[in-house]
Amino acid sequence: MSADPGTPEVSAGDTVDGFPLQAHIREVGPRDGFQNEPEVIPTETKVKLINALARTGLRRLEITSFVRPDVIPQLADAAEVLQAVDIPEEVSRSVLIPNERGLERALELRDRFDEINVFMSASETHNQRNVNRSMADSLTALERVLGRAREAGLRCEGVISVAFGCPYEGAVPPERVFEIADRLVAAGAQEIGFGDTTGMANPRQVKQFFQAARARLGGADQVELTAHFHNTRGQGLANVYAALEVGIDSFESSFGELGGCPVPAGATGNVATEDVVSMLHEMGVQTGIDLRELLRVSRAMQYHLGRPLGSHTLVAGPIDWHRWAHQES
Ligand code: ZN
Repeated sequence: MSADPGTPEVSAGDTVDGFPLQAHIREVGPRDGFQNEPEVIPTETKVKLINALARTGLRRLEITSFVRPDVIPQLADAAEVLQAVDIPEEVSRSVLIPNERGLERALELRDRFDEINVFMSASETHNQRNVNRSMADSLTALERVLGRAREAGLRCEGVISVAFGCPYEGAVPPERVFEIADRLVAAGAQEIGFGDTTGMANPRQVKQFFQAARARLGGADQVELTAHFHNTRGQGLANVYAALEVGIDSFESSFGELGGCPVPAGATGNVATEDVVSMLHEMGVQTGIDLRELLRVSRAMQYHLGRPLGSHTLVAGPIDWHRWAHQES
């Protein structure tokens, strides 16, 4: 991964006292976000929004999911969306793959995406409720999916849900999460995403967790460690900051704070991409993303959904330091 064209002075991996100067953001709204919308969004609207997102300077975009259409009707148009979108070459296109059948469907459009992500939960109860399988069965199945995806030349991310706490079982021992990560890495995952699926993580826990994860799973050169926070209890940005403090520079978020998790009901809201980008830029951490363009897409989404979205920066607007600078001169 190279630095963004307009920002040659900072390259990927640069840090000050361990604090990253550049961060990677994968926009997951078109999958994690759309799938939680009760009203089916027309394919044409999805395509327009995805095309616009792909032109905000984002370098990673999760486009859709090859789950069974009867399980998540919202994403039943996965193939149509993937075929219709027009994504600049520098943007990595990711799709979510639930199982081998999903991978087979996706591979029919192999030239339309670059990465897959597979997922399972770090607790038995959440995994059962989410995918109706034991954790052991999920792991075995995902190992096969990862093997086949790597053979097809795809980059692979393994996402571990409820990694910081489970709404059914409570505390989730980090060691259990790292054991799952080990298996997914051994099966071919180059990136592991740690999901705070129902917003139970706190910043202190996040710091300790990622410190341990880096020590346990190796540096960024071996496997990329990605943080996926939900803002369910308003702690998403604090958790992003805590992860940055221990050198994590890869994040997943949803424009407009869309998204959530199908189980349990009500656990909605990925941390908003525009809020993450605003905070990162204010701290001097580069993302390559044009915040104003991103806000334009979120505003369009609000219009399509006919309701206000939860992101703070969408309400308040970006901080315009130039305005005051001009007043002085
Ligand atoms: Zn999520």
